[in-house]
Amino acid sequence: MRRPVIIFVVLLATALGVGFAMRRTLAPRLAALHVERGEPNAPPPLDPGVAWSGEWYTVEHLDEATIAIGEPRSEGRNVSYLLLGNARAVLFDAGGGWADLSPVVDDLTDLPVIVLPSHLHYDHVGSIENFSAIALADLPELRAQARGGVLVPTFEQFLGVVVAREPPTLHVAEWWKPGEPVDLGGREVVVRHTPGHTPESISLWDPARHWLFSGDYISPRPLFAFLPGGSIGAYRSTARTLTAVLPGDVVFWGAHDELSDTLAPQLELADLRDLSRVLEAIGRGEAEASGFFPRVYPVNDRLEIWADIGDR
Ligand SMILES: [Zn+2]
Repeated sequence: MRRPVIIFVVLLATALGVGFAMRRTLAPRLAALHVERGEPNAPPPLDPGVAWSGEWYTVEHLDEATIAIGEPRSEGRNVSYLLLGNARAVLFDAGGGWADLSPVVDDLTDLPVIVLPSHLHYDHVGSIENFSAIALADLPELRAQARGGVLVPTFEQFLGVVVAREPPTLHVAEWWKPGEPVDLGGREVVVRHTPGHTPESISLWDPARHWLFSGDYISPRPLFAFLPGGSIGAYRSTARTLTAVLPGDVVFWGAHDELSDTLAPQLELADLRDLSRVLEAIGRGEAEASGFFPRVYPVNDRLEIWADIGDR
C-alpha cells in the first residue's frame, strides 16, 4: 500500500476504535443531531379526561389528589406527576423543559410544592429551577456531589448535549431517604431507589394506592440501559427487588409514553415480570436481541430494553 493510503487506514481505524470505546458518551451527541432538527409533534386529539393547559402541557386527574401532566408534543412524550396531600404537594419530575411547567402547577394547587426528579436527565428536570423547593433522593453519591446543598448534574447525569442545554443548579431543600415515608398531610409517599436506567434513578411509592411512579425505570417505551450509567445488572437487581416487594395490584405510572394515546402511561406487575424474565435471560446469555449498539431485547408488546454491547 502507498503511504497516504496506510495513513488513511490507520486514522480511520483509530477513529472507529475511539468511537467504539466512547460509544456511550457519543450516543447522546449523535442523538442531538436527530432531536435538535426534529419539530415538536403536532397537537394530538386528546382522550376523554385529558385537557390542555396552555399549548404544550396536558392535565389528567388520576384521582382527586393525583394529576398527570403530559407533554404529548415532546419527542419522548414526557409525563410528570403532581401528588397532593392536605399540607403540601410533590411534583415528581419537572418536565422536558420546552415550556415552563410552573404556571401549570400553580393553576392546579395552592399548596406549597416541592419537586423531586426521578433522575437528572435533561428531560426530567426541564423546569426544575422555576420551583422554589427541590428534594433529591438521599443517596450517598448525590450527597457527596452536593456542595453546600447545591448540586449541578454532571454531563453524564444530565445529557443536555442532546438539546444543547446547560445543566441546572439545584438548591436542595430536602433529602428524602429511600424507604422512609414522607408525610404530605394525610398522604404518605416513599422514595424507592430503582437504579438501572441511571445509577441515581428513583421511583416514588404511594402505599395507600399501590401506585409506583416509576420514572424511566419502567414505562411503555424502549427502556434505555445503554446510556452513560445505565446497567443491565442494576436493572436486573432492581427488578428482583420490586417483584419481591410489590403487591399484585400495583400500577406503574411511567415518565414517557411513546406507544399509545394521550392518557398517562400505565403498566402492571405482569409487565415487570416479563421485563424481569428477559433481564435474567440476558444474564445467562440466552436472550434474543437485534442490532449492534444498542442491543435491542424485546420484552412484550409494550416494552423492549436497549443495552450496551456485552452488558449482561
Ligand atoms: Zn432518562
